Amino acid sequence: MSKADRKTILAIFPHADDEISCVGTMANHVIRGDRVILCFATHGEMTSLMGDVSEEEIVFAREEHAAKVAEIIGCEVMFLDFKDTEVEITRKNAKKIAGIISQIKPDAILTWNIYHRHPDHRSIAQLVIDAVTMARIPRVVDPNGPHRKDITIIQYYGERAILPSIYVDVSQTIHKIKEVTQCYADTYGWTGAVERVTARRMSTGMECDVDYAEKFTILRRRHRPVRYIV
Ligand SMILES: [Zn+2]
Repeated sequence: MSKADRKTILAIFPHADDEISCVGTMANHVIRGDRVILCFATHGEMTSLMGDVSEEEIVFAREEHAAKVAEIIGCEVMFLDFKDTEVEITRKNAKKIAGIISQIKPDAILTWNIYHRHPDHRSIAQLVIDAVTMARIPRVVDPNGPHRKDITIIQYYGERAILPSIYVDVSQTIHKIKEVTQCYADTYGWTGAVERVTARRMSTGMECDVDYAEKFTILRRRHRPVRYIV
């Protein structure tokens, strides 16, 4: 792949394990030679799944764990300083994410949808939409330089989604999905997680005639025209 063809994918989520539903897609892009960055907006410090430990211990464990996940996927990883359960849709927060977008200059962003039950998930989805616009404004993102590309926002599929949906064939990277899920299962003491995640990918795959798939919706400023419809 030539340098010009290499794409940059930013996956941004509030909490550890939010990324499980797009591990196959991220791994596909890594295999193709793209740059993939997994960004956690918080350290998931409100968790009770790690037992009675201090916030500092959670932060340390999260960073160590994220490094393992990133190694499996083959991507980069970073954390922002948002507070778990307090990711709010404000202009200030949108500008903070715009700063990240203007640094990384992604071609596509993977994130939550605006319908999910967790408020941090809904907030990050809306913040990404706002930040993509903010990142186009030079004075907002100074000194990084604006990112004016028509970024493709890929959101997790939700039943209430009205945006067009897309399927990603993850049959070649299902082993990575299993490995990442196992990594979380070991930390949290989840039972049957790998089987559940695999079954879900298989059922999504049946909807589009492949062995395993991940499903998303797609949001762009403009849709690319086609010459033929079939
Ligand atoms: Zn979450």
